[in-house]
Amino acid sequence: MLNRIDLRGRTTTPAQLRAIVPRTEVDVDSVLHHVRPVVDAVAARGVEAVLEYTEKFDRVRPASVRVPASALSSALSALDPAVRGALEESIARAQRVHSDQRRSEKTTQVVPGGTVTEKWVPVERVGLYVPGGLAVYPSSVGMNVVPAQIAGVESLVVCSPPQAEFDGLPHPAILAAAALLGVEEVWAVGGAQAVALMAHGGVDTDGAELAPVDMVTGPGNIYVAAAKRLLRGLIGIDAEAGPTEIAILADSTADPVHVAADLISQAEHDTLAASVLVTDSVELADAVDVELERQTGATKHSERVRTALRGKQSGTVLVSSVDEGVRVVNAYAAEHLEIQTADSRAVAAQIRSAGAIFVGAHSPVSLGDYCAGSNHVLPTGGCARHSSGLSVQTFLRGIHVIDYSEEALREVADKVVTLANAEDLPAHGQAVTARFSR
Ligand code: NAD
Repeated sequence: MLNRIDLRGRTTTPAQLRAIVPRTEVDVDSVLHHVRPVVDAVAARGVEAVLEYTEKFDRVRPASVRVPASALSSALSALDPAVRGALEESIARAQRVHSDQRRSEKTTQVVPGGTVTEKWVPVERVGLYVPGGLAVYPSSVGMNVVPAQIAGVESLVVCSPPQAEFDGLPHPAILAAAALLGVEEVWAVGGAQAVALMAHGGVDTDGAELAPVDMVTGPGNIYVAAAKRLLRGLIGIDAEAGPTEIAILADSTADPVHVAADLISQAEHDTLAASVLVTDSVELADAVDVELERQTGATKHSERVRTALRGKQSGTVLVSSVDEGVRVVNAYAAEHLEIQTADSRAVAAQIRSAGAIFVGAHSPVSLGDYCAGSNHVLPTGGCARHSSGLSVQTFLRGIHVIDYSEEALREVADKVVTLANAEDLPAHGQAVTARFSR
């Protein structure tokens, strides 16, 4: 079922590998012209423009955009107890892991009387986008809210698309998840108009105010990504999350049933999802193909899965050794990387680029999607080469506090003057010498 790429015996550079190994290309630039008028209209006309675009794109026009508190509490009361229990477990595990990500203030004594302290200050107000188009992800609410809350963000607003079948409210599972996390401010708005509303702020039809945020995080479709790109600078953003991707580095010891199930689990997200197997075993590749056929036929979203697996973004890469496989997956920098080899931990230790690494036969990506405690908002499209997934750090700003005494400044004054003159900025040097010339 998967396309095959045979790298055995080929010599490749990391740049060549990035071009050879299949991946979904999402051209965010191609929709900027479509999204810019939405963003501009929301900046100029606020909620009035939001409602026009909501009617056009979401085919519903809620009477007001702010979700009433009563809707949050009734969604939580109506939540299936089993789903509530599972969400609570997911949140509790994420809280445990993310609590360990807190940063403490550090002071470095550079010289006697001269210190630099790095203090960590949470972003004041954050907007969390929770997708609600093709699928609804209550688990993503926790993945966004938990690190923000643990970072100490004081003010949080969640935006998620209104659903015609729920009277213009976001999906009840999303409202319930928000209520479970103690989020009180939720707005029924999706797509680019949500990002623009959070960035610029606005006043609802009934007078409720959405104060502008400092940062927007959370995954979304290409329009959400385009709005984040346009508004970056006015607001901070986490990343432009693209379609999900899984790479599995496996050898002959891997179980083809598990490998196929994991490739299918990510393909289930989206027809554009990428599922890539990297292996040194032709026998495993053949057995996985057989399993993919069998399991795809039996899975609920079989058409979506089949399209994703057969797409040019998915495939099997044959390599001559696990070491060569490590080179391939490091170059690829998958959002999710599974290692299913004889010595998975030793192989995982060699991985330098991945959004998250899932080690061994019993750490499937689905575990990380929900209940590992790790965050599931991860860099896609090769961005794992330079970026990390969502974490407490995402919501913190490190601020240097410089505190030098007169003596400590005097001791280094001539060096500052020399460097200032070398850069032809003599006033910089003067700002130091002025303190000692009187
Ligand atoms: P979404 O909420 O991102 O987008 C829906 C919104 O798009 C609608 O509210 C609508 O306003 C807007 N829209 C629809 N058609 C439009 C058009 N023609 N022009 C302008 N705006 C339009 O939901 P989605 O579409 O289901 O996408 C969610 C994405 O997020 C998927 O790609 C999914 O894989 C991804 N996702 C990623 C992660 C992650 O951690 N990386 C987690 C969850 C979801």
